[in-house]
Amino acid sequence: MGYKVMELVCIIGAGFAGSVVARELAEAGRRVHVIDKRPHIAGNAYDEYDAHGVLIHNYGPHIFHTNSERIFEYLSRFTAWRPYEHRVRAVLDGKTYPFPINRDTLNQLYGLNLDEAGAAVFLERVREPRDPVLTSEDVVLNSVGRDLYEKFFLNYTRKQWGLEPSQLKAGVAARIPVRTNTDDRYFTDTFQAMPKDGYTKMFEAMLDHPNICVELGVDFEDVRDSLRPAHLVYTGPIDAYFRYCYGRLPYRSLRFEHAHLPGVQRFQEVGTVNYPNDFGYTRITEFKHMTGQQHSGTSIVREYPQAEGDPYYPIPRAENEALFQRYEALAAREKNVTFVGRLAQYKYYNMDQVVGAALAAAKQIIG
Ligand code: FAD
Ligand code: UDP
Repeated sequence: MGYKVMELVCIIGAGFAGSVVARELAEAGRRVHVIDKRPHIAGNAYDEYDAHGVLIHNYGPHIFHTNSERIFEYLSRFTAWRPYEHRVRAVLDGKTYPFPINRDTLNQLYGLNLDEAGAAVFLERVREPRDPVLTSEDVVLNSVGRDLYEKFFLNYTRKQWGLEPSQLKAGVAARIPVRTNTDDRYFTDTFQAMPKDGYTKMFEAMLDHPNICVELGVDFEDVRDSLRPAHLVYTGPIDAYFRYCYGRLPYRSLRFEHAHLPGVQRFQEVGTVNYPNDFGYTRITEFKHMTGQQHSGTSIVREYPQAEGDPYYPIPRAENEALFQRYEALAAREKNVTFVGRLAQYKYYNMDQVVGAALAAAKQIIG
């Protein structure tokens, strides 16, 4: 189409942020034009059947979890769900342990027989109290002490971020709880489920509205000068929007190595296995655990963190946040432009948090 779209709201990015705003505005009677530079909708939550007929997540494992009934109900308008509670094991010296660290992890690792109170006493004895708790190193040492830190966290974090835990803000490691009970679920949110027919189908339903037009394979950079929307919603990297005028905002990337294993019903005992100390990858995920799909073979993905490539993670450290704030100040001065989402807000958001941010952004635009 030509870009004479004066009346339109233009949305850059068809991930959670862009698609939720699109739907909300469309329902409020606005005409919405969504573009994405990728050849598909759903952003990093995109899933599809691989060449062997197994439903996979192209950009790594996406497990939906939230404590917000409002957000769960909102998405339930576009999908039915399959209940799923994610479990993770970590491999140390060839042996697998429950992760996050719980009582069973302690008992198996140290050959102990602690009960819940005993596990609490154990952690109290090994922890290195830190005050204030500012970095990810502080968080972990403060809760589980040096040995567990070195076994489970130090090298995984170095691999994942290319940084020391002491260089990352507390919030990164604080994503991972420590438990004295034997709960081995990765998340304990009230709502934990996978879209029954996959994320892409959910996005198709969300974007299926007479006021929404979606155009794929279009880079904002190539069309921005000809766009004249009444309002622009931008969900890409904020530094790119401002043509890197203050320099690059670091985002961490990943290389996904997908594999299909014909004739293998089950490759590993849980959805994800973490390898903190070995290999170039951080973790292996087997999708059939998450989707419940029946298939004679199985498909897995290994995640190799890297500096270059598509931006997947904002990197939470003080100097990056200071740079982000400079871009944010520019963003605040842009008339009729809304910046929302994990890349535009430079926030380590989970999917439900992006939905929440997008609903708030849409409300503000509608006024
Ligand atoms: P994105 O999904 O990144 O969408 C932004 C879109 O904008 C992209 O499609 C991009 O192509 C497009 N775009 C960017 N620049 C341009 C441009 N110039 N022109 C046109 N289009 C552009 N969250 C969970 O809750 N649970 C999980 O288990 C989970 N696992 C994750 C695993 C991995 C490996 C990663 C990377 C993230 C995970 N997340 C998870 C986080 C989740 O992916 C994000 O919170 C969510 O997808 C962010 O949505 P978004 O719309 O902000 O961004
Ligand atoms: N982490 C770790 N060891 C692990 C798993 C996680 O040290 O086995 C740390 C690491 O710094 C990681 C952070 O905890 O980046 C958050 O982990 P999470 O699984 O939430 O990361 P994501 O799924 O977002 O990649």
